[in-house]
Amino acid sequence: MEQKELIEKINQLRKDKNVIILGHYYQRPEIQEISDFVGDSLELSRKAMETKADIILFAGVYFMAETAKVLNPSKKVLVPDLDAGCSLEMSCPADKLKEFKEANPDHLVLTYINASADVKALSDYICTSSNAEKILANIPLDKPLLFAPDKNLGAYLMAKTGRKMDLWDGVCIVHEAFSLEKLVNLKLEHPNSKVVAHPESGSDVLKIADFIGSTSKMIKYIEETDCKSFIVGTEAGILHDLKKRVPNKELIPVPIDEDNTCSCSECGFMKLNTLEKIYKALLDESPEVFLDDEILEDARRPLERMMAL
Ligand code: 13P
Ligand code: SF4
Repeated sequence: MEQKELIEKINQLRKDKNVIILGHYYQRPEIQEISDFVGDSLELSRKAMETKADIILFAGVYFMAETAKVLNPSKKVLVPDLDAGCSLEMSCPADKLKEFKEANPDHLVLTYINASADVKALSDYICTSSNAEKILANIPLDKPLLFAPDKNLGAYLMAKTGRKMDLWDGVCIVHEAFSLEKLVNLKLEHPNSKVVAHPESGSDVLKIADFIGSTSKMIKYIEETDCKSFIVGTEAGILHDLKKRVPNKELIPVPIDEDNTCSCSECGFMKLNTLEKIYKALLDESPEVFLDDEILEDARRPLERMMAL
């Protein structure tokens, strides 16, 4: 089917079925274009929680759609592709976290939102990259704390706040792959450029960054900073929206480490979603996210605590 026809059919279905399409900044440009709202993890969670639509089509990765279901359980939540996972989520299976908790009963658990609903249900606190410092500041100091599953974000938070934490051994395969050497070379070639980086990146990359923040915070910084050129250290999907917002600024993606023909970095999980799959998901009302009542309830507690903050 031609893209134009596909979009028309999606538009008809979303109208007939009262659907909201939520898209992450790392989605393909054509998916961002048809989304009712494009945002980072925290903004998308908020939209999912507040929506009055009957169906949420979540164009992101699976843990995000699960989060939407937990925050708004009466809604039908659809995903374009069930295989759209996340390396961080996969690094932390619920049974392993349970083992850690049994071996360390005094520990509180602060979990980055990039985790399964089962893991969220075992967590005391949840944060995203945009509110992690704020959530951390609200956690009592009298108990040991585990930060799961992103060791890079955890290390960044420890360095920034001085708070000691045990770190789960997980990484985002996309942000971990950024090449420090290529970034340094880029900075030498473009001495007037500012480097912006996502806190999922490794500490060497973060040391060079002029600004560190979540996807939306990076966008805001680039929009508001009086500088004409930026070296952008996050998934390349962000460039679609940025080019529209700051057409006169130069945006240089940080290359990844391997010898790769692509000069930028993409999340293969995020890119599994396509317009065809969205159309099919809306037509069939499947794949749908289903969660056990107990998981829904246990995961809601730390998530609602985060949303309240
Ligand atoms: P944010 O959307 O919170 O910036 O997180 C980035 C990310 O990697 C999502 O999977
Ligand atoms: Fe997970 Fe990284 Fe992809 Fe985000 S970019 S979904 S953290 S693998």
